[in-house]
Amino acid sequence: MSDAGDTFDYIVVGGGTAGCIVAARLSEDPTVTVCLVEAGPSDEHEERAGSIRRWAEMLEGEYDRDYRSVEQERGNSFIRQSRLRILGGCSTANTMISWRPLRGDLDEWAAMGVAGWAYETISPYYDRIAAPIAPVDANDQNPYVADAVAAAASALGLPPRATWNDTEFTEGAGFFEIGYDPATNLRSSTSRAYLHGVERANLTIVLEALVDTVILDAWRAVGVRTLVAGEERTLHARREVIISCGAIDSPALLMRSGIGPKPVLDAAGIDVLIELPGVGENLQDHAEGLIVWEARGERSDVCATGWDAGYALRVDEASAVPDISTHIPLHSWAVHAERYGAEIPDNHVSFAPNVAKPRSRGRVWITSSEPDAAPSIDYRAFTDATGRDERMLIEGIRLARRVAEQEPFASHLVREVFPGAHVQSDKELSEVLRATHQTVYHVSCTCRMGADGDPLAVLDSELRVRGASGLRVVDASVLPSLSALNPVGLVMTVAERAVDLIRDAAPAGPTVRHGDVVGIPQ
Ligand SMILES: Cc1cc2nc3c(=O)[nH]c(=O)nc-3n(C[C@H](O)[C@H](O)[C@H](O)COP(=O)(O)OP(=O)(O)OC[C@H]3O[C@@H](n4cnc5c(N)ncnc54)[C@H](O)[C@@H]3O)c2cc1C
Repeated sequence: MSDAGDTFDYIVVGGGTAGCIVAARLSEDPTVTVCLVEAGPSDEHEERAGSIRRWAEMLEGEYDRDYRSVEQERGNSFIRQSRLRILGGCSTANTMISWRPLRGDLDEWAAMGVAGWAYETISPYYDRIAAPIAPVDANDQNPYVADAVAAAASALGLPPRATWNDTEFTEGAGFFEIGYDPATNLRSSTSRAYLHGVERANLTIVLEALVDTVILDAWRAVGVRTLVAGEERTLHARREVIISCGAIDSPALLMRSGIGPKPVLDAAGIDVLIELPGVGENLQDHAEGLIVWEARGERSDVCATGWDAGYALRVDEASAVPDISTHIPLHSWAVHAERYGAEIPDNHVSFAPNVAKPRSRGRVWITSSEPDAAPSIDYRAFTDATGRDERMLIEGIRLARRVAEQEPFASHLVREVFPGAHVQSDKELSEVLRATHQTVYHVSCTCRMGADGDPLAVLDSELRVRGASGLRVVDASVLPSLSALNPVGLVMTVAERAVDLIRDAAPAGPTVRHGDVVGIPQ
């Protein structure tokens, strides 16, 4: 690539869930040039990235950053946080359970002083998402899971739902809507939906290029320094650099670039260019509890992803969004229970209740200026002052026990094996559930938007990094607070919205065209 070819109007760093959307949409305008820089390879010829039923096969494998946490004060210290380094990012290996942004979540952002993200403004952006989202097809609905859903609806008095995203709701039970094509089971990753087969002279995709730092010139982002096959390469941006590296790696990149909390940067030996104490703070995730039963009889393997259904409900009457969201998997994920000593029989089934609106706040930070060094993660799960998260974790299991007594689910069960029927008091339940909770891989909120004058806001309401110009963040890290339900629909919506914000800010008139790699290089 020539020197001239290293200059673009926009550089998007991170070709993951949000980054693919931003790069694809911006490059729809032929008068601008866009460069998407992704640390991993293309997903186009990776068979495991095709059928969504194979979602788990890439976890903890060669594309997975597989981040660990520091020792946890009140939660599980053994969580493995999957982050996929491949085009499409986590949308290339997740289960794509997708929700239209909930009004209550967006109202909460408004109450935090974030402007321009009201439900009426944001909901139409969900309809722009080009990644197909469909209710789990009748042919993919497992009969055993259907029995569990029916029992949950009647035991807990929840409205049964065949669809979710065409209405506003706070409660319900049913098969989910997921990002897939029911006819082929192909996943709706954002790479597949927005980039595969796209050939545009103004779109350059640079793969296997780890961005080390954003280059600032008098607080203006003017480019990025990358490592491609160990070689340093500089890319220049005329208009903007957009960081879309996800909730762990976006704050890490800002910190390596001299933007972040001074004590962290000092300790890592990095000069502070913009002191922003909120970078890496405010980390949120959905802590997921587990209840396992010995099962009776056989179950068929029919499914879309194996995590196709569940129920969501409020516990506190005043809540505007669900307080607990429970997944009903076909195959359990019981590694933490087994590590804790639980004996799980071969024939078993489980429910996984999530704390939907976590109040605990964690943190991510770097300890080194090396771009490939894993950032430190501290979830600080169950450290909220009022103990609400712990209460919801326990309540999720108690509600699941009620469902287990209800037909047509009860006949599938022999007995509860984890936490076990003998574990009854709040104290006992809390201890075992906190030690074994799983992540739902929904880490978010570490570069959050916030009001002017909010000392921990990293971004303004238009996703611009405070104190810098020409620099935005667009991914799961920007959320001021985590959505009650699975966030990927919201992340894609944020990306669609970001494109309008970026275009609106652009100077009028065409710019010189560059861009010398077309489509996705092999
Ligand atoms: C196993 C799993 C299952 C999940 N299931 C669901 C679900 O069913 N529903 C749901 O709502 N959510 C789900 N999630 C969460 C959801 O996938 C994420 O919230 C979402 O995809 C995050 O998108 P993102 O754009 O923030 O980051 P990502 O999609 O992670 O993208 C970040 C990209 O940046 C790249 N990158 C990072 N650092 C650099 C760098 N320095 N230089 C260049 N590139 C870089 C990465 O390689 C990656 O491609 C799941 C996640 C996982 C892991």
